[in-house]
Amino acid sequence: MNFKEINSFIKDLYPNNKFIPLHEPRFIGNEKKYLSEVIDSTFVSSVGKYVDELENKFSEFSNTEKSVAVVNGTSALQVALRLVGVEQGDEVLTQALTFIATSNAIIYNGASPIFLDVDLDTMGLSPKAVEKFLNQNCEINDDFCFNKLTKRRISACVPMHTFGFPVHMKELIEVCKRWKIPIVEDSAESLGSYYNGKLTGTIGDVGVYSLNGNKIITSGGGGIIVSKNKKLCEKAKFLTTTAKKPHPYDYVHDEIGYNFRMPNLNAALALAQFENLSNYLENKRELAKIYQTFFEKIGLKFRTENNNTKSNYWLMTIELKNKKERDLFLKETNNNNVMSRPIWNLNYKTNPYSKYYRDEQKNALFLEQRIINIPSSVRI
Ligand SMILES: *Cc1c(COP(=O)(O)O)cnc(C)c1O
Repeated sequence: MNFKEINSFIKDLYPNNKFIPLHEPRFIGNEKKYLSEVIDSTFVSSVGKYVDELENKFSEFSNTEKSVAVVNGTSALQVALRLVGVEQGDEVLTQALTFIATSNAIIYNGASPIFLDVDLDTMGLSPKAVEKFLNQNCEINDDFCFNKLTKRRISACVPMHTFGFPVHMKELIEVCKRWKIPIVEDSAESLGSYYNGKLTGTIGDVGVYSLNGNKIITSGGGGIIVSKNKKLCEKAKFLTTTAKKPHPYDYVHDEIGYNFRMPNLNAALALAQFENLSNYLENKRELAKIYQTFFEKIGLKFRTENNNTKSNYWLMTIELKNKKERDLFLKETNNNNVMSRPIWNLNYKTNPYSKYYRDEQKNALFLEQRIINIPSSVRI
């Protein structure tokens, strides 16, 4: 690998940066305008017109009944799991090849993750691995799926659309339907990605997006919960606003909720960002093409979207031949002001998750050693 060529190619893509970060936000629209309006209005906190506007815009864009803006993607996931019925002592199917927040949200509900393998092409939860686990270990009782080994209920499945590449949702939905398991899509990374023409996040029962600073658009910190099920959306709003019953002046709470509301200040930033989402998506798609041409020319594998899917190309991804080449790539780029980063360590390799069930993880282990991300910010 000719790192001089690789580094200078990437540096030329971002001529304004000395150090090229993996992903930095871009504020080129109404951000300042909306933020000063919020400050002038004094409504900087958890109510205000930008929260409503953001939620309305998001439901319109995602063609869902309602969307609920919350403080971050992790809390969105936490609530989404509770919405589909995850309770203390349950088990939840997910992938080990993901950002740790996916697993944390399961634990916050008092449930345990079951780590299943991913597909090589999507890097997301494998419907085949899910089916295999369920066939080998589970039974249906009273309309719920139970793990015969632990006697615990399996009350949700959380696929994650890695770096914006959609999971094989059709196959996953088929399996989960048969086994009566609701799906929560961790679409934290895939806002603007499509699977068979459907926006990721709106294909399962509930979906969540993250608006963290490193994601495709940002509210500083934030998350969005979406669903086609109106009742679940209303419940999401209720739970994330301290489960307060509507009343002209009294405090009535008959359930334990959360203070997870997105402040109006953040919603203003998010709305301005959202207005540029389609520009950003196009911009990233162009960048992906540029990278693809370059890396093909020098004989490295650049990851592109699968048939019938559209990736938002949140983080550009290349696959090295082996761990040694990957490590060399990481070293030679990071030492030269070009940021690159390996994919996450499999979650069960971290201390708090070492005790949970995992399958063979053949594909996840393969990808863990080879996949890296390279600078992916929108180019202006
Ligand atoms: C970013 C991310 C989250 C969490 O979002 P925050 O807004 O940072 O809390 C959850 N899952 C995945 C896969 C993510 O990449």
